[in-house]
Amino acid sequence: MSSQVVTRFAPSPTGFLHIGGARTALFNWLYARGRGGKFLLRIEDTDRERSTPEATEAILKGLDWLGLDHDGDVISQFENAARHTEVAQQLLAEGKAYKCFATQDEIQAFRDAARAEGKSTLYRSPWRDAAPETHPDAPYVVRIKAPQGGETVIRDQVQGDVTIRNDQLDDMVLLRSDGTPVYMLAVVVDDHDMGVTHVIRGDDHLNNAARQMMIYDAMGWDVPVWAHIPLIHGPDGKKLSKRHGALGVDEYQKMGYPAAGMRNYLARLGWSHGDDEFFTDDQAKEWFDLGGIGKSPARFDFKKLEN
Ligand code: GLU
Repeated sequence: MSSQVVTRFAPSPTGFLHIGGARTALFNWLYARGRGGKFLLRIEDTDRERSTPEATEAILKGLDWLGLDHDGDVISQFENAARHTEVAQQLLAEGKAYKCFATQDEIQAFRDAARAEGKSTLYRSPWRDAAPETHPDAPYVVRIKAPQGGETVIRDQVQGDVTIRNDQLDDMVLLRSDGTPVYMLAVVVDDHDMGVTHVIRGDDHLNNAARQMMIYDAMGWDVPVWAHIPLIHGPDGKKLSKRHGALGVDEYQKMGYPAAGMRNYLARLGWSHGDDEFFTDDQAKEWFDLGGIGKSPARFDFKKLEN
């Protein structure tokens, strides 16, 4: 395996490029660029209802203004759907996944009974251990076999080791009953196929990492280095939202902010290098490391940015 660092920014094209996304992109860009690595761009457009070409356009423009150049073509996740399905089929053929014929009513009944008995409502499909030939000719989903017993440890460069008991993991659906692959599968397959070595993203995806590791393990693929960055809060300590000031990167561009100043500001949202407040791009590339990312949410202060 090559030791070249490969990072990626994987936005869902459902709106403009906001401060949080821009910071994630910047961290990935800095990490790769400072190490002679590659920074890739993948548009996660599998949610056909919410994804729009206008949002993709806005994200690309925002990255362009910020000077965060990517390597290779922009990848569309949706266009890789056949490959995602192929991986699910492989897991099925290897007995690491199975067809689950349970109906929604049956799953609901399972949950109701579990709740009534005070047990975990995590669905346990009776089809997991059924012989394939006994399955009726009826609609099914494909589920991965979650590990039984033991623990999954997410070795995170920002959060430290995060341990999840495997009995908290369900036999996650990989293919829906209409045969379409789920998002969680798409992310893992794409990251693997793109050769991503470091996944740097918001910590709202931390729980996903444990579920994604089931797929890496089942496929025998190397798990990437994880770095889940705390989300950004406003000066009042609440999750960043419109009322804290401008959120779209394009708004700063229109206000006449220099892109270099914006990069400097974004770099310091959750990452620090001693007491240094201002640095050049070259310094940022040289200094940026995952260990310098703080564990608590960064505070975004619009007024500070204005001065
Ligand atoms: N598409 C996801 C988002 O926009 C990111 C997923 C990932 O980085 O793995 O939040």
